[in-house]
Amino acid sequence: MKKKILLIHTGGTISMHVNEDTGAVVPDQVNPLIKEHDKLEQLASISEIEAFNLPSPHMTPQHMLSLRNIIVDQLSHHAYDGVVITHGTDTLEETAYFLDLTTKFEAPIVLTGAMRSSNELGADGLYNLVAAIRVASCEDARGKGVLVAMNDEIHQAVNVTKTSTSSVATFQSPQYGPIGLVTKTMIHFHHAPLIREYVDVQQLTKRVAMLKVYAGMDPDLIDAVLQAGYDGLVLEGLGQGNVPPSVVPAIQKLVEHRIPVVLVSRCFNGIAQGIYGYEGGGKQLEDLGVLFTTGLNGPKARLRLLIGLNQENGLLEMARFFK
Ligand code: ASP
Repeated sequence: MKKKILLIHTGGTISMHVNEDTGAVVPDQVNPLIKEHDKLEQLASISEIEAFNLPSPHMTPQHMLSLRNIIVDQLSHHAYDGVVITHGTDTLEETAYFLDLTTKFEAPIVLTGAMRSSNELGADGLYNLVAAIRVASCEDARGKGVLVAMNDEIHQAVNVTKTSTSSVATFQSPQYGPIGLVTKTMIHFHHAPLIREYVDVQQLTKRVAMLKVYAGMDPDLIDAVLQAGYDGLVLEGLGQGNVPPSVVPAIQKLVEHRIPVVLVSRCFNGIAQGIYGYEGGGKQLEDLGVLFTTGLNGPKARLRLLIGLNQENGLLEMARFFK
């Protein structure tokens, strides 16, 4: 029997075309993927929802929350076997991680997108969409949380990141690799997630800032986070999790004001930790009360902090939430 798949469109290059006069890639009035419905019906029984038609730099956590609410509502009232979401690739990893942390269904939720718009040579949108529908229809994909299917690979939301501005092989999971492959004849999972998390979030009213740390950084930007009334800060620190001594007092001031500061590494691989005991070293920062994550990148750590601060049943115990 055909699987029942809910296909939710949110926009992105997968829903755009290139204007041959100007060369600019622009959104379409009518999503070009809608024309492909009959082709997709050969794979599964497809119900489509156009949630948004946004370039993904226009996505906000509020859109992510609306998308989460659509999924919760639809999966609670209809017997779908899986959900596929089309999304712009720029912030796809953020929406994927947001949904991973805020939903808890066995049915697969699979995001996909395209690096080339619908009428460009070598357009990858329809190809990726077909792959995502096949993944969402696959029994082995159940219970694995939110997945990203692009370029014949399947990645976990928590690990995947956009690594190239233009290559169709842009999505990779540094340190860990994909958890499955899409071939012409099968969906092959070779790894499975050990941990699944769920946080209840109904509203987003808090604000979390993110700054990248660099050699010779002055403290004024970190001070500005306090002055502007942010509720939390993520710092993309150096190496194993260090900062220049010049910014330590500003970080300490935030912690004293009970504003959580989370330190991730600006390195592409590895996990930031409290290792170094010198001025600005991760050990010193940890002792000051700075929080570390298990290898999340900056944008995902920011969403985690935002979700934690907005948790339904009051503020999460942040130190535990980030352990
Ligand atoms: N800038 C586009 C977006 O994220 C890129 C894409 O869809 O691949 O909407």
